[in-house]
Amino acid sequence: MAKWLNGTVVENYHWNERLTSLKFEAPLDHFRAGQFVRVGLEIDDDIIARPYSLVNSPGESLLEIYFNIVPEGPLTSPLFHLRKGDDILVAPNTAGFLTINEIPDAGELWMLATGTAIGPFLSILNESEVWQRFERIVLCYSVRGKDDLTYIESINGIAKKHEAQFCFIPLITREQVPGALNMRITTAIENGELEKNAGTPIGADHSHIMMCGSGEMIKDVSALLGARGMHKHRRRNPGHFSTEKYH
Ligand code: FAD
Repeated sequence: MAKWLNGTVVENYHWNERLTSLKFEAPLDHFRAGQFVRVGLEIDDDIIARPYSLVNSPGESLLEIYFNIVPEGPLTSPLFHLRKGDDILVAPNTAGFLTINEIPDAGELWMLATGTAIGPFLSILNESEVWQRFERIVLCYSVRGKDDLTYIESINGIAKKHEAQFCFIPLITREQVPGALNMRITTAIENGELEKNAGTPIGADHSHIMMCGSGEMIKDVSALLGARGMHKHRRRNPGHFSTEKYH
């Protein structure tokens, strides 16, 4: 199998000066909603590649990744400046366990995302399977400023389609914005605001929590859930939360 597939950029949509959604074509095999793929560029005769979650759902023809510029990192700035028609390298295989088929049944599914980690959850929420498996889905999307709260139209579309089953809780940590909690996810769990806003408690007997994004959020929330008798889900030892750390 080829080490890299040749991809072509179709669109690079800049939400602001640091956040972008890159859409591209590549002959990638089937993947599961929530998985990631390695994407790379040839830079100074070397291939630099990093994993990125796919935002699109498996049935869609264009592949899409969502990321922010990391000033000290080698790949994100060149990726940010790609234009329509530019070449991009895409690994032939996807990977990752933040997928619906990997998690046990539960009444409520919570999805906790920090920053660009909203991507895999959008992929999952735009497929029908998750709505058939869970009675209620709570999406918590934490960002620093209101300019970072992207994909709101997509989220509103999901909310409209699944009104009775879906609850969306935006959290903006550094700005007071009407309709958003002005605190971190960990604080909102500790002070009860998250469950109050969702209208449902988090508990070992009825909830599964998927977390994606910052390692700090994942560590802190895992500890809070641990204090409630919940533990990380593994294939051989089914549990109550699943995680994917970006950095
Ligand atoms: P790197 O050399 O990768 O990182 C430089 C430094 O920045 C490191 O210390 C790293 O830990 C830190 N860092 C990495 N990402 C961030 C960030 N977002 N904010 C602040 N510091 C960061 N990133 C996305 O934006 N979208 C995704 O969908 C995504 N999916 C991922 C899936 C997996 C399984 C993993 C492990 C990571 C994922 N990442 C994602 C992170 C991504 O792979 C890169 O690390 C990131 O885009 C920075 O790339 P870089 O080459 O510029 O810097």
